Amino acid sequence: MLRLSELKLPLDHPPEALPTAIAARLGVSSGDLVSWSIWKRAHDARRKSAILKVYIVDVEVKGEAAVLARFANDTHVSPTPDVAYRPVAAVPKSGRLRPVVIGAGPCGLFAGLILAEMGLAPIILDRGKVVRERTKDTWALWRKGRLDPESNVQYGEGGAGTFSDGKLYSQIKDPRFLARKVLTEFVAAGAPADILTEAHPHIGTFRLVTMVEAMRAKIERLGGEYRFEHRVTDIDLDKGTLRGVRLQTGETLEADHVVFAIGHSSRDTLHTLYDRGVHVEAKPFSIGFRIEHPQSWIDRAMFGPCAGHPDLGAAAYTLSHHCSNGRTVYSFCMCPGGTVVAATSEPGRVVTNGMSQYSRNERNANSGFVVGISPEDYSSDHPLAGIDLQRDLESRAYAAGGGDYFAPGQLVGDFLAGRPSTALGEVVPSYKPGVRPTDLAPLMPDYVIAAMREALPVFGRKIARYDDAQAVLTGVETRSSSPVRMTRGADFQSLNVRGLFPAGEGAGYAGGILSAAVDGIKVAEAVALSMAGKAAA
Ligand code: FAD
Repeated sequence: MLRLSELKLPLDHPPEALPTAIAARLGVSSGDLVSWSIWKRAHDARRKSAILKVYIVDVEVKGEAAVLARFANDTHVSPTPDVAYRPVAAVPKSGRLRPVVIGAGPCGLFAGLILAEMGLAPIILDRGKVVRERTKDTWALWRKGRLDPESNVQYGEGGAGTFSDGKLYSQIKDPRFLARKVLTEFVAAGAPADILTEAHPHIGTFRLVTMVEAMRAKIERLGGEYRFEHRVTDIDLDKGTLRGVRLQTGETLEADHVVFAIGHSSRDTLHTLYDRGVHVEAKPFSIGFRIEHPQSWIDRAMFGPCAGHPDLGAAAYTLSHHCSNGRTVYSFCMCPGGTVVAATSEPGRVVTNGMSQYSRNERNANSGFVVGISPEDYSSDHPLAGIDLQRDLESRAYAAGGGDYFAPGQLVGDFLAGRPSTALGEVVPSYKPGVRPTDLAPLMPDYVIAAMREALPVFGRKIARYDDAQAVLTGVETRSSSPVRMTRGADFQSLNVRGLFPAGEGAGYAGGILSAAVDGIKVAEAVALSMAGKAAA
């Protein structure tokens, strides 16, 4: 089998054009083409009047060795890599403590799955509830302004990305094709099969809920065990080695291999780990607002006359701008045809994020409009100072929104003119329970506001109407990634606590569903190798 990339065809090509183009590109007759399948499909919309589909295909062809030899200097033709996932260790079970995974988000889910597949019967603890119960609690905040601090957008089965756009791509280096393992498991659990072939796949919220249930069933069938509403409140250490975890139920769970896949919002747990002496350090993250435009504006700007073409779907964008004050402003977690959601896990705070359904057919497009900050910007050099900053901004947003979980909002025109909004206009913001017009500038440090005001017109030149006066900003976007890293060594264990395996986004080793899931696989492998008495690769 060989892999052929950068095969471009017109957007509206008939199905039979693809094998014809493959044969022509490889210089073989159609009779020599034994089979072909699509590995990835993207589109190239740089020329809006002539949008192209771009394929990577796997091809079985007669005389493959000769074809490969002919294209030896062509980087777009190569042998198809082996993407099968293979367990890294066989671990003798007898007499061992079961590995514990804290967190049932994408990282914990995949750590749990891999450990279960290796027969290690992991115990998976999550402070939140089973996903169906959690869904009700999450909607209670959105519909009624009632927050459950233990069951919300951040906490519970499926983790932070359960109520999301379910974008499944990442920039991580992945020489072992672990992302393929993740996508394959997702499809087996009910995700649409096109996530395997789309270059920018997404799942949407409703499907994510049923998928995490299906994955739980699989992990349980393999011998894993879930315990929901089991918050880890402390750890037991003995001379730098983890001996167990304490739970809010009053139990202590003896354990010597514990994966901490706690996400970036478990601030109390991060404080506890710091207090116990676990090595943590401050890291950069980003802060800002959400911006909303009608999806039709974005479709027109990105796809021109092809806007609305069924194969293109709702248009997405990525933007970034390096500002004169040295800051970088960029779009984050863009949700085409989606809604802005209330994403706080703490009372008295407002946080925005975005989600969508698989159809992406809501009226508005939204994305984070954020500015990168780093530990030098925090108020102290305490490793957890980034959390203090997040809390401060989120509390200000809560107050500015009126103190009932409404988000403060502002028209882009007013934001650029430096005057408060008193009413919203053509663009109806989607955040629930609601948006109160105000002045967002006092909610962020001055350098963030200055950078945003510089970037808006720049982005408006790249995407028509991005900086339209009627577009709406809501605040605040503070949970873009973790402000903390629980640094680990080459063996994936904490730098100073044996048996503690920091993992996923909360540990600073992932940023998104896919990268968190991949990190979960790697950490589970490291756990298994440690249990088998071997070094991690
Ligand atoms: P999390 O998913 O945060 O999971 C951590 C889990 O640990 C939680 O379930 C929590 O309850 C549990 N936990 C925490 N502390 C404890 C404790 N002390 N004891 C027991 N359990 C504990 N990413 C994308 O790639 N694509 C998207 O489209 C996307 N959209 C998003 C939309 C929203 C609204 C949000 C909030 C996030 C979105 N993200 C998206 C980000 C993505 O969700 C995260 O990057 C990802 O979930 C991180 O995975 P994780 O497993 O490391 O942590």
